This record gives sequence, structure tokens and C-alpha cells, in this order.
Amino acid sequence: MLNDPRSHGLWEKTAPAAPRTSPLAGDLTADVAIVGGGYTGVSAALHLAEKGVKVVLLEATEIGFGGAGRNVGLINGGMWVMPSEIPGVLGSVYGERLLDLLGNAPLLVRELVEKHGIDCEIEKNGTLHCAVGKSGLDEIKERCRQWAERGADVRILSADETAKRTGTTAYAGSLLDMRAGTLQPLAYVRGLAKAAIAAGATIHTGSAAVSTERAGDRWIVRTTGGSVSADWIIVASEFYSTGPWEAVRNEQVLLPYFNFATVPLPKELLKTILPGREGCWDTREVLSSFRMDRAGRLVFGSVGALRNTGLSVHKAWAKRALRKLFPALAGIEFEAEWYGRIGMTSDALPRFHVFAPKVVGFSGYNGRGIAPGTVFGKTIARHVLGELSEADLPLPVTTVEKASLRTLKGAYYEAGAQIAHFAGARF
Ligand SMILES: Cc1cc2nc3c(=O)[nH]c(=O)nc-3n(C[C@H](O)[C@H](O)[C@H](O)COP(=O)(O)OP(=O)(O)OC[C@H]3O[C@@H](n4cnc5c(N)ncnc54)[C@H](O)[C@@H]3O)c2cc1C
Repeated sequence: MLNDPRSHGLWEKTAPAAPRTSPLAGDLTADVAIVGGGYTGVSAALHLAEKGVKVVLLEATEIGFGGAGRNVGLINGGMWVMPSEIPGVLGSVYGERLLDLLGNAPLLVRELVEKHGIDCEIEKNGTLHCAVGKSGLDEIKERCRQWAERGADVRILSADETAKRTGTTAYAGSLLDMRAGTLQPLAYVRGLAKAAIAAGATIHTGSAAVSTERAGDRWIVRTTGGSVSADWIIVASEFYSTGPWEAVRNEQVLLPYFNFATVPLPKELLKTILPGREGCWDTREVLSSFRMDRAGRLVFGSVGALRNTGLSVHKAWAKRALRKLFPALAGIEFEAEWYGRIGMTSDALPRFHVFAPKVVGFSGYNGRGIAPGTVFGKTIARHVLGELSEADLPLPVTTVEKASLRTLKGAYYEAGAQIAHFAGARF
């Protein structure tokens, strides 16, 4: 997108075409204006349109331009935070509600993919959180215990079983989460957008919201080409926010994350490397992730931005690390490389904001947005429809607060990743 092959990489090459949309030109009236065309905004549009609500979604660039078109494609249940810590931060009512909602969120993704026939390479064989050393193993065992206590379909796999499934002996074991899986992230959001349009939603791309104002008891959202007058505004622009809700971005610290995709692996290697196509990531602080796409390309990623010195440091590391994990991949070519911006909140938990009366939004997904964005989109739709009151939502209302030492912390993540990858101590 925007002629930048490092923005959406492999996903842009292999996703089915986006539905035809155009920039807003003129003044429209709707029940709900949605700002942002990622999982949250499009899911909200779909769920509202299905109930007969008149929805206009404004997307600054293209559907999936933000995190939705750039991510790894791991459909996770829950957040990074250990389940037992969440009620400690949010209180037991919100904590248990959030855990329940996010733990089951991958099921909603599967349901929507099936219901709307979305062609997005969905794989349902679970994810493997791979343990590095004894401390990693202790961590995943505790995480497994806590999720199992809540009835989740999770279990610990031995080092041998992990090696059989991944094709590498690098790990001391893994946590298999059968709720989870992988998909082609841009294909998924484009498919959701097609379903939303089919249900009656209007989507305008190339239409950044630049300002907003109150007109009587309605809101006017303006773009450079026109305006939308609506009762409600759903703010779904998350960490890629520009314009009126840029504060949502400033509340989070930037964690850059890159991916490289190999050329399709030969058939015999596909029998040993991820034959079950689980999505994987490890327990290191500067984590790595890997997964297969439908054509058998291995998508391998870690923390860092592919620009300036980062480009050569991270690329050299990726080649070394892949060779160490999978010696048979020595010398394999990369077919695509890209990176994106993950936003991290101070407590690694999402937020619900009421910016003004009937101007609401969820944000702060901390690198876990496929299933959460989908389910938060549905949840906010239910709130607007009056099915869920503010008190019934999975998060309390919080005010938007600028992250402290934001620039410094973001620079620290990138510098830390470059040091880890340059030193190569881990591989
Ligand atoms: C590299 C990377 C890897 C990741 N890996 C995973 C993963 O494996 N699994 C997972 O679950 N999550 C992952 N994530 C996180 C996930 O991608 C995000 O949490 C998710 O995309 C958030 O969805 P969203 O719809 O809320 O926001 P986004 O997808 O970011 O969409 C927001 C949209 O709002 C638009 N916008 C911004 N400002 C305006 C405006 N003024 N007017 C109109 N539109 C506007 C943007 O253009 C953008 O398209 C990853 C993220 C990145 C960057």
C-alpha cells in the first residue's frame, strides 16, 4: 500500500482484492459513523449493519492499512498478561468479564469466517507458545494451569512433541492452545469489509477524519471531501490514529515488529516444519514468531523496524536465527519483508474510552488485535444498539492519558532489539 513493499509485505501480495470503495465526496447522514477500517471498525460496521443500523465507516487509507494488514496472523485467546493478574488490575467483575470475552474471541473469528465464507487461509490447529529453557517452561506451565482452570482447551507439550510439531529442537516444551490458530490477516479484514458492505454498511476509503463537531444533538465528522452526520461515533483508529483521536496513539508506546516470508518451502520440508501449521512464538523477552502461510512460506518475525540500521541488523539476524532453528533452511530466500507498529499500554491491557457523549472506542490491544478487535467491534456495536450498558462492558471507562516517557521507551524497544539481534547471543 502507498507503494511501500515493506508496509504490508506478503499479505498484500496474496490477499484477495479489497471490496471496491471510494473516497467520501459530499455530505452523508447515518446513525453511526465509524472511524478506522481495521478489525474493530469493520466488525462494528458488520454487526451494526446486520441489525439494520445505517453505518458509514471512514478509513484514512485502505481497509487493513493499520495493524490489521501487517500482523503475524496469530489468532490468540487472551492477552500477554497472565490471566490471574487481570482481575488484580481491573477488579474481579471486569477482570473475569474480559478474560471470558477474550478467551472465547477466537471462536467468534472462526464463526464469522465460516458464516461469511471469508477466504483468509484460516488454520484451526492451535498455537504453540514455545518455551526457551527452564524459566520459559515454568512460565508456560503456569499460564496453562491458569487457563485450564478457566476451562480453556490448553495443554503442555513435551520437548519431543514440540520438536515433532515445529521441526526444531530449540524448545523445552510448548503450550498448545486449541482455541487459537492462524489466518491471512489482510484477507480476513478485507473479507469482513465485504460482509459489512453486503449487510448494508457504507465504507469510504481514502477518507481520513480530520475534525469533528457537535451540531444540535448530532455529531459531524469531516473529511477533506465531505462529512458524515451521525448520532454516534465509534473511534476505531487504534495505534494508527491520526486527526481528532490522535491521543489514542499517544497513550501507547511504540513496539516495532517485523516479518520475513521465505519462498514456498519444498514439499519434503513441509512434512517436518510445522506439518500441522500451528502458529508459534517463544517466551524470550525479545520474542520471535513463526508460522506457515497456505502456499508453504514460513513467516518469521521479531521485534524491530526494517529501516535505517535496523534493516541490515534484523535481516542478518533473521537469516542466522532461521538457520539455527531449521538447518535445512540455510540459504533460503526471503520473498517479502515488512514491519508495523504495535502499541503497548502501561499495564499491557486494552482501554475503553468515552471521548464525549456517544463518542466511544476500544483501543490498546498490545499486539493482540485479531480476535480482540473482532470481539470489541461486536461489543461496541451491542453498546450502541443498547444491548449492553456502559456498566456491562468488559472494561471500565478510563480517560486518555499520554504515556510517560513515550518516545524514550519506544526508542529503547528498538535499540534493545537491535542489540539483541546484532549480538546474536540468542542464536
Ligand atoms: C507487526 C505486527 C504484528 C502483530 N501481530 C499480531 C498477531 O499475530 N496477532 C494479533 O492478534 N495481533 C497482532 N498485532 C496487532 C493487531 O494487528 C492490531 O491490534 C489490530 O490490527 C488492531 O485492529 P484495529 O482495527 O483496532 O486497528 P488497526 O488495524 O490499526 O486499524 C486502524 C485503522 O484506522 C485508520 N485510521 C487512523 N486514523 C484515521 C482517521 N483519522 N480517519 C480514518 N481512519 C483512520 C488507519 O488507517 C487504520 O486502517 C500485530 C500488529 C503489528 C503491527
